[in-house]
Amino acid sequence: MRLVLLSPPGAGKGTHAAWLTAETGVAHISSGDLLRAEIARGSELGRRLADYINRGELVPDEVMFDLITPAVVAADRDTGGYLLDGFPRTLPQALRSEEIGRQQGLTVDAVVYLTAPEPVLVARLLGRAAEQGRADDDTAVIAHRLAVFAEATAPLIDHYRDRGILIEVDADRPVADIRDDLRDRLAERGLLGRG
Ligand code: AMP
Repeated sequence: MRLVLLSPPGAGKGTHAAWLTAETGVAHISSGDLLRAEIARGSELGRRLADYINRGELVPDEVMFDLITPAVVAADRDTGGYLLDGFPRTLPQALRSEEIGRQQGLTVDAVVYLTAPEPVLVARLLGRAAEQGRADDDTAVIAHRLAVFAEATAPLIDHYRDRGILIEVDADRPVADIRDDLRDRLAERGLLGRG
């Protein structure tokens, strides 16, 4: 299974990625985790990345492709697919990754769009800030990340809907309900067993 999770911050990408990888065995690739790992390494690149992430800005596409492409190729080779969480996040990223996907036979099967009203997203992110202390989970940066989503990432929703591969799921429900719904929708497309 080759899946993209496309959702605003706070919609539950990480939560659903966890059971999806456990059930399918495909590798979970989180663009944010890859970036944070590079920052934790303390490299010069990491210092530049921290500057973008702490402000809630998108990091440049070139850097993203350098980090993501080898991870996706390895995931597909080693686990027979991938679960991409947080990438692509802009139309240019989507178009270029489709091109690379076609060349390498790694084309995505479906894109899951988890939706929830903005106040719900903000409340969840502030809750996570209290638990995990992420630098980009403070009120002002959260507001900016949601604005970046609306401007740069939301156009991908129509793009994937037009391609017929968008699975839109209401994420303002208990996790178990979202999981059952998503499982059914993936099963309808032959991407997951009915459990
Ligand atoms: P996330 O963990 O997905 O919420 O991502 C945290 C931060 O990493 C984002 O606010 C961006 O600064 C950066 N980031 C993650 N994925 C991407 C991407 N595909 N393109 C550009 N920046 C990204």
